[in-house]
Amino acid sequence: MNRSVLISGAGIAGPSLAYWLGRHGDRVTVVEQAPGPRASGSAVDFRGDQLALLTRMGVLEKIREAQTGMGDQVIVNAAGRRRSAYPAAVFSGEVEIDRADLARILHDHSAPHAEYVFGDRVTAMTQHADGVDVTFARGAARRYDIVVGADGLHSAVRGLTFGAGHTHYLGYHAASFEVANTFGLDHSGVIHNAPNRYVGVASARDAGRAIVSLMFATPEPAYRRDDLDGQKSLLARHFADVGWRTPELLAALRDVTELYFAPLSQVRLDRWSSGRVVLLGDAAWCAGPGGNGTGHAMLGAYTLAGELARAGHETAFARYEEVMRPPVTKSQKFAAGAGKHLAPPTEKAIRRRDRTFRVLSSRPMTGLLTWLSTRTADTGELTDYPLPAVTG
Ligand SMILES: Cc1cc2nc3c(=O)[nH]c(=O)nc-3n(C[C@H](O)[C@H](O)[C@H](O)COP(=O)(O)OP(=O)(O)OC[C@H]3O[C@@H](n4cnc5c(N)ncnc54)[C@H](O)[C@@H]3O)c2cc1C
Repeated sequence: MNRSVLISGAGIAGPSLAYWLGRHGDRVTVVEQAPGPRASGSAVDFRGDQLALLTRMGVLEKIREAQTGMGDQVIVNAAGRRRSAYPAAVFSGEVEIDRADLARILHDHSAPHAEYVFGDRVTAMTQHADGVDVTFARGAARRYDIVVGADGLHSAVRGLTFGAGHTHYLGYHAASFEVANTFGLDHSGVIHNAPNRYVGVASARDAGRAIVSLMFATPEPAYRRDDLDGQKSLLARHFADVGWRTPELLAALRDVTELYFAPLSQVRLDRWSSGRVVLLGDAAWCAGPGGNGTGHAMLGAYTLAGELARAGHETAFARYEEVMRPPVTKSQKFAAGAGKHLAPPTEKAIRRRDRTFRVLSSRPMTGLLTWLSTRTADTGELTDYPLPAVTG
C-alpha cells in the first residue's frame, strides 16, 4: 500500500506489525524508548491455533530452536516437600520461549522490512486530514500516514490519544529476574506460596541460570517506574516473612540489574482507534497473566496489517477491531482471576487449589486440563491476506 507508518514500541506487537506491514509494501519506522531489544521477562508460550500464525510468519522454526522445553512445575510447601504440580501443558503451552528471545527473533525477522530507532519516544502528535505530525524526544519531527501505539501497558500513544485512566488495577504486582540456578532445576520449576504471595523459580535452556517470578497482592503501591532500588525494597518488604528458599532469592535480588516489575492491570477501551492513530497489543487490551498477551498481540498485528492492505484506514481499523474484540474480551475475563489463582489469599485456599490440581493433573484428567488452558488461545482459522509477490 506504500503508506508511511510509525510504530511506537519494539516489544512483541511492534516488531510483528513491522514485519507484516513491510511485507504488504508499507514504509515502516519503529521507535523504541529502550536502547535496544529488552532482555528481561520470564517465559511466554503459544498454544492451539496460535501455532498456525507463527508458521505463516516464518518464525516457528526459530522459536522452536530457542524453546525452553520446560517440564512440569512442582508446588512445594515451606519444607520443600511436593504438594501438587502444574503440568507443562498448563504453564508452558505447546511451545514456550523466554520473552527476551522472542523479542530478539521478532526484531531480527522484521528488521529488513522496517527502520528501527532505539532510545527515542513520541512526545506529541497532531492529526490532520492527510497525516499525523509527530514530534520526538530526540529525533526530528516527521509526518506519517498512520501512527500505531504498540507501546505496552503504559502506552504513551494511548495517553496522547485517549487521555489517562484506561487501566484497571487487578490488585497484584508481578516481578521477574534472573539468578544462578542453585536449585538443581533441569527444564523444571518449583513454586511456593504464602497467603497472597507466589514465588516461582524455573530453569530450562541455560542450566546455570534460573528465572524467578514473584507475585503479591497489594493495594496499588507508590513507586517510580524507573526506580530499581525502590522496586527491590517493595519486593523485599512484601516477601520478608515467606519461607522455603525465599530469603536466598531476596538476597540475590539485591545484585540484580534487570528487573521486570509491573502491576497486573487490564487496559479497557471502548475503541482502539481515533482518526489515523490505532492501538495494538497490551497498549489496547492488556489482559494480565494467562490472557494470551503475546499470542493476541501477534494475531492483532497480522490482522491490522492485512486489513490495512485491503482498505482505507477507517474501514481497516473497524474490521481489525471486529476480529480482535471477541478473543480479547474472552481472555480478559479469564485473566481477571489469575492473581487469586496463583497467589491464593489464605492457607486454606492454597490447599484447596493444590488439591484441585492434584486431581486435574492425574492422567485421566490431563486432556480436560489441556483443553481448558488452550480454550482462550483458539481463535479459529486465520484470514488469508495475500502478500504482494517478492521482486528482485
Ligand atoms: C521488559 C518486559 C518484560 C516482560 N516480561 C513479562 C513477563 O515476564 N511475563 C508476562 O506475562 N509478560 C511480560 N511482559 C509483557 C508481555 O511482553 C506483553 O504482555 C505481550 O507480549 C504483548 O506485547 P506488547 O508488544 O503489546 O507489549 P510489551 O511487550 O510490553 O512491549 C511494549 C514496548 O514498548 C516500549 N515502550 C513503552 N513506552 C514507550 C514509549 N513511550 N515510546 C517508545 N517505546 C515505548 C517498551 O519498552 C516495550 O519494548 C513484559 C514486557 C516487557 C516490556
